[in-house]
Amino acid sequence: MSRNITFTMIKPGAVAAGHIGAIMAKIAEGGFRFKAVRMTRLSKEQAETFYGIHRERPFFNSLVASMTSGPIIAAVLEKENAVLAYRDYIGATNPADAREGSIRKLYGTSIESNAVHGSDSDENAQIEANFFFNSMDQF
Ligand code: ATP
Ligand code: MG
Repeated sequence: MSRNITFTMIKPGAVAAGHIGAIMAKIAEGGFRFKAVRMTRLSKEQAETFYGIHRERPFFNSLVASMTSGPIIAAVLEKENAVLAYRDYIGATNPADAREGSIRKLYGTSIESNAVHGSDSDENAQIEANFFFNSMDQF
């Protein structure tokens, strides 16, 4: 399992607001290389599976509703120590708490519409990449 791969999504709110290009440029500016990119829309079942770890949380239903509200960009990114580097780069979960200049600070509007997702472990990065892209050994 590569320590140099992470998975990201540009969430529906940021796509709808027209921020795809700016966010992708910002990702590249951070030294992350795009290994795969795809625009798609999550079904309710896919969103429930993707965020399954939060199933018991009070915000689960509204999280699923917001993640299925429109198209997303799914992408696999490469950089040394990608998972931690990317989570640091995008900023805190709540845009209000995110570092100045971070993607979530710049393009997030609320904790649920926080612009981007970033994998939280190497194992989950691989699982999430395989969820959206076919070839198991592509990354
Ligand atoms: P992500 O997994 O999307 O990269 P994260 O790892 O920073 O975000 P998680 O704890 O995994 O944060 O939460 C997943 C998503 O659920 C968050 O991105 C956010 O949109 C939403 N979320 C988390 N906590 C809350 C909350 N207290 N209220 C509403 N939504 C929340
Ligand atoms: Mg998470």
